[in-house]
Amino acid sequence: MKERIYLFDTTLRDGQQTPGIDFSVEDKIAIAAMLDEFGIDYVEGGYPGANPTDTAFFSEKRTSQAAFVAFGMTKRAGVSVSNDPGIAGLLQAKSDAICFVAKSWDYHVAVALGCTNEENLECIAESVKAAVNAGKEAMVDCEHFFDGFKANPAYALACAKTAYESGARWVVLCDTNGGTQPPEVRAIVEAVIAAGVPGHCLGIHAHNDTGQAVANSLAAVEAGVRQIQGTLNGIGERCGNANLVTLIPTLALKSAYNTRFETAIDEERLLNLTRLSHAFDELLNRSPDHQMPYVGVSAFATKAGIHASALLKDPRTYEHVPPESVGNFRKVMVSDQGGKANFINALKRRGIEVAKDDPKLDLLISIVKERESIGYAYEGADASFELLACRTLGTIPEFFTIEGFRVMIERRFDSLGRVKIVSEAVVKITIDGQTLMSVADAEGPVNALDLALRKDFGKYQHEIDDLVLADFKVRILNGGTEAITRVLIESTDSDGIRWWTVGVSENIIDASFQALMDSVIYKLMKNRQLAGKIAAE
Ligand SMILES: [Zn+2]
Repeated sequence: MKERIYLFDTTLRDGQQTPGIDFSVEDKIAIAAMLDEFGIDYVEGGYPGANPTDTAFFSEKRTSQAAFVAFGMTKRAGVSVSNDPGIAGLLQAKSDAICFVAKSWDYHVAVALGCTNEENLECIAESVKAAVNAGKEAMVDCEHFFDGFKANPAYALACAKTAYESGARWVVLCDTNGGTQPPEVRAIVEAVIAAGVPGHCLGIHAHNDTGQAVANSLAAVEAGVRQIQGTLNGIGERCGNANLVTLIPTLALKSAYNTRFETAIDEERLLNLTRLSHAFDELLNRSPDHQMPYVGVSAFATKAGIHASALLKDPRTYEHVPPESVGNFRKVMVSDQGGKANFINALKRRGIEVAKDDPKLDLLISIVKERESIGYAYEGADASFELLACRTLGTIPEFFTIEGFRVMIERRFDSLGRVKIVSEAVVKITIDGQTLMSVADAEGPVNALDLALRKDFGKYQHEIDDLVLADFKVRILNGGTEAITRVLIESTDSDGIRWWTVGVSENIIDASFQALMDSVIYKLMKNRQLAGKIAAE
């Protein structure tokens, strides 16, 4: 009987502390859905009451499988739990669980909270009880636990024990400053278990300041903890948090762990790991780390040379795990079988059947590879990939043809002498031999283009009424002498289904137009049950 390790994702809360990262409500909804679909046990969404984004995010439950977790401070000293507005906000949030952060280093209790050690213990106990009484699962992040333990072991243990004895499902030991070493983590976790908090109620929250957040998490598991907190791609403050994208395959594929432990991510779910990691980077609008363990494009790449021919004879001689097990590719030469199998798999998930020896499949693979080399990113644009596959392998109904578009941008002064930018777009389309021309203006050129395109769609007009562009991301890719622009558009409709499309061009408006076109065509396909199997999952 294997012991279960629970996976707790804090991308949306601790990950938000990453310099340069700021999630919108839309981003948070999309990321929570990605984590939920992937199979993470706990998705921590943020800090309701602390800012308008998180308050709005917690107005609804955002996961269907995973436990949805709100984060917040334990009650303040000197205020009863029912009179603490912070606690009220947490109890009202539409979450399944509450993760309280509590001080467990006596120095911080005195300096940051300005209350006595006993008062802090009471705050922990009362907060946990309030959450449990409200029918929520309670957990306590013991902040600075390892440093606090080194300074005053008795007090750090008292905090952990108080949380446990008050009914917390999980007591999470945090290496908040990230400087603790694996042997110290192991020894301190053992001391906590010896003091009476059982390992099946303990979690680890490690930061990566010495590059050992993953190692520290595994050391804690070895010592007995059964919940791991981390983030997607290891994002987080300073050097980041423990990287779940590294921890999950290690637990699943390495015999040091998989003979004793299991997580919610079984072999089948693990196949989606690379896609999850890359889709998350696309959403953040940043380039994936090529050397990230397991999922980086270089993780299973071998430069031609002495290794390549041996690798082709027997890949296992040069790979620590099969790349397909995490949804990644072996990269040695262009038409490798691993790549082909992955393509067939990706198509199958979309309900598109294709034979392994169909020449159209080779054509599709070469088109995708060529397009990716010039900047397209299909991992972040599922709908565009699906359309490209349908176009190459079969047929897509010819709904309409674009005759052309024109965008004019004018900078002028209004009657009060203020600068005004006006964009005017003209779009010409043909439906059933009839040409329709629409004009629209807006402040931004893309907005004007979108308005003009959707102003008169002939017989399809009513079909795209509920199409909403939820997000728009632009990235400038530097290739050669000319900058290339990539635009990713997220769309949704009244079914609540979301899809992503991509456009690439030297011209930002053209790139936007391509992504916009794909979104509209995908919507028409989806309306006819010809597409959207993945998006609807
Ligand atoms: Zn943290």
